[in-house]
Amino acid sequence: MNSITKRWLRSSLLITFLLVAGAVSIYIYTLISGSYNGVQQAMLSRISSMGGQLKITTGQSAEQTSQSRGSLLRRMVEQFDEKDKFEFMLLDSEGQVIATSSGGTLRYEKAPEDFLMAMESPNSSGRSVYASVTGERVMAISVMVPYPAEDVAALRMVTSLTMVDQMMVERVLLALGIGAVILLFSAWSGVFFIRSIVRPLDEVAKTANAIARGDLSARLPEGSDGDEIGRLCNTINQMAGELSKTERLQNEFISSVSHELRTPLTSIRGWVETIAHIRDPEDENYRKGLSIIGRETDRLYDMVEELLSFSRLQSGVKLECRPLDLVAELTDAALFMEARIRAEGLRLVYEEPELPLPIWADGSRLRQVFINVMDNAVKYSSPGGAITLDLLQDGENVYVLIKDEGRGIAPDDLENVKLKFFKGKGAVRGSGIGLAVVDEIMTALDGSADISSELGKGTTVTLRLPIYRGSGEAPDWAVNAPKESPEKE
Ligand code: ADP
Repeated sequence: MNSITKRWLRSSLLITFLLVAGAVSIYIYTLISGSYNGVQQAMLSRISSMGGQLKITTGQSAEQTSQSRGSLLRRMVEQFDEKDKFEFMLLDSEGQVIATSSGGTLRYEKAPEDFLMAMESPNSSGRSVYASVTGERVMAISVMVPYPAEDVAALRMVTSLTMVDQMMVERVLLALGIGAVILLFSAWSGVFFIRSIVRPLDEVAKTANAIARGDLSARLPEGSDGDEIGRLCNTINQMAGELSKTERLQNEFISSVSHELRTPLTSIRGWVETIAHIRDPEDENYRKGLSIIGRETDRLYDMVEELLSFSRLQSGVKLECRPLDLVAELTDAALFMEARIRAEGLRLVYEEPELPLPIWADGSRLRQVFINVMDNAVKYSSPGGAITLDLLQDGENVYVLIKDEGRGIAPDDLENVKLKFFKGKGAVRGSGIGLAVVDEIMTALDGSADISSELGKGTTVTLRLPIYRGSGEAPDWAVNAPKESPEKE
């Protein structure tokens, strides 16, 4: 049996069982005592009305009074009109029967228990319940006569309990039946409820296992009614969707990186074979070959550098921040890119501001951010276009705007360009991690990278960083930030 069912049995059903059992027991107890007390009360009220008549009976002397009370009582016994329900008796001081409404003569072996109790009780009455000679359960009440009445010492009334007992058995059975029905109903509704949770959870566990084993196409039925299990199913489906998207992007990444590596390698191998046969170092092809090999090696080197820095970021390498001048850093990156920008037939538009803009950052990471963004601007621009760098600031932040007049990004690609391994439609060479690295570094520096673009018109990347106002010590965000990159795996 699974554990949710066990827990439910232990908590809910056990408590219901105890409550029902308690309620039924209290009902049975009050039923039994109430019924017997009712019978007792009925007999006592009859006896006391008879006793009351004795009080008004008088004679000329005490003896005569006693005699007339005795004969009054005997008459009462003879004329007792509820013989079918009760047996009315007069007892002497030994507890033996003087007269009885059933008319027979009766001798007890010893005085009845209720008579003995009445003799001793302060209220002069006693009650006993026993099985009669016929085996029938009866209740007897004895009340001592309050006034002398010849040899009559006590009035006694006996009645059968058969009807009362039968009624009680019926009611007890009814109460037990209702209790059992309540328990069965709560067990049934509980089992139904538990199944409605446990079954879908089994399904969830199976699907999650399948996903964990690598079957990323496994999906759960969509939870339509919006309850917790439905939401769990939807979340797992979403997770599987994200995983398969990541897996697809990762596969695309591997194939595009392999392709990117193969192109320069093919060129290098071709040129190596060519110059291997050239004996004259002054040969034009010899020099051309060497320069191409040199360029392609640089390209390979840059690419490997980018991959390495990405993997370092992923494994949570710490940033080494210190106070820097943003203007100087941007100018440095612009100078580095300038030759390439010109070589591609593009213009670099940058007016270096005169005043420094202090920030708290890791210089080499920041340079990587600028170069990645400018590299994209170069890759996606056509000759003749301009690449414009702007620096703005408000009270809290500085903004670097890198703007190109290139082909722009399609609106449905725009939301994905910052994802790892994502390459847009018609992407030129690249592994799809450039902007992911930019975003990760900017976030780690308490800044952000926003990209706006219009297809056919150009793209603007806005890099925001907080202005640093300290004098050498780390700002609050850097002190409180986790020491490692948030994406540590
Ligand atoms: P990569 O390292 O391959 O260049 P990025 O993460 O830098 O990858 O860019 C992701 C995608 O975003 C590119 O494949 C390209 O489609 C698009 N993109 C990025 N910058 C620009 C830009 N300035 N103009 C047009 N498209 C761009």
